[in-house]
Amino acid sequence: MRITAAVLETAGGPFALRDVDLGDPRPDEVLVRLSGTGICGTDLEFATFFPTPAVLGHEGSGVVERVGAQVTSVAPGDRVAMSFTSCGSCVTCRTGSPAYCHRFDAVNFSGRRPDGSSALSLDGAEINGHFLGQSSFATHAVVPERAVVPIGDGIDLPLAGPFGCGFQTGAGGVFNVLRPEAGSSIAVFGAGAVGVAAIIAAAVSGCGIVAAVDVNAAKLEAARSYGATHAVDSTASDSAAALREIAPHGFDYVIDTTGRQDVLRTAVEALGPLGRCGVIGVGPSPEMSFDWRSVLNGRTITGIIAGSSVPQVFLPKLLDLHAAGRFPVDRMMTAFPFEKINEAVAAVRAGEVAKAVLTF
Ligand SMILES: [Zn+2]
Ligand SMILES: [Zn+2]
Repeated sequence: MRITAAVLETAGGPFALRDVDLGDPRPDEVLVRLSGTGICGTDLEFATFFPTPAVLGHEGSGVVERVGAQVTSVAPGDRVAMSFTSCGSCVTCRTGSPAYCHRFDAVNFSGRRPDGSSALSLDGAEINGHFLGQSSFATHAVVPERAVVPIGDGIDLPLAGPFGCGFQTGAGGVFNVLRPEAGSSIAVFGAGAVGVAAIIAAAVSGCGIVAAVDVNAAKLEAARSYGATHAVDSTASDSAAALREIAPHGFDYVIDTTGRQDVLRTAVEALGPLGRCGVIGVGPSPEMSFDWRSVLNGRTITGIIAGSSVPQVFLPKLLDLHAAGRFPVDRMMTAFPFEKINEAVAAVRAGEVAKAVLTF
């Protein structure tokens, strides 16, 4: 079928709205008509080097239009959010940890299905897509059943997509991995969309101290409104000293959403004995280094992908919290019509919006 997609024609370049052909869903795939898609930092990162032409986007939501013959979990007309995909047959998939699928990169970031084909073609030639199972910067997407999550009526459909990536990543790091006990202390480094999701999850978990650390005063102000009990502006203060003042014996938990070497080091050093650091951010620093003493006291550093979640299990829980008013992330979303994707990307890059959502 003919669809409209925002095609990245050259790495680093703008997105161009083009008429693209989308193949039929295979037996284990689902055709989704998009109603919204978030723009995530991962899209912007991959847009700088991904082989082109390509269709990115991976925080989509919409309505199922058709399903392949083997699909059982959704039917035409169902409202769905989309998330990452996984192979389903490796040992970590079979033991319930699809976020750590042995073939995660191949099925999410190769631009193709595992057999090398693409559902998307432009002017008769296949182009890269299947980005994180989705390629949601398009009016329609062909998605593996494993990447589709049926959702209820408790949320405006266009706003549901970011739950499948950014919000799941931040909240899952807290709920699924660190599991802070009531009254414990946590510091969240980076108060963007992922960090705010972690902050809300920490507040919902009953943490006594929730410290937000960022370079942006406006984001820190917003973080307080989502449940941060303390805000540390790392441009204005020695953040290590400020954190020691907040938690003199060190934090029980820290989360890094920035992927920056200097920030991660500060985060690990802010822990108390037996403290746990969750590493969520994929950022500019290829290596991380620590003084060995900073991990000797029983401290743990854990990498976390996609909130360690099983999307079909975790997303409905997050959406229930949202419907109950306890996960109010819709406040940070700014809607742009799909046609304005380049303006939306510019607003994200400039830090003018916390979470841009394209609507169809
Ligand atoms: Zn993402
Ligand atoms: Zn797998």
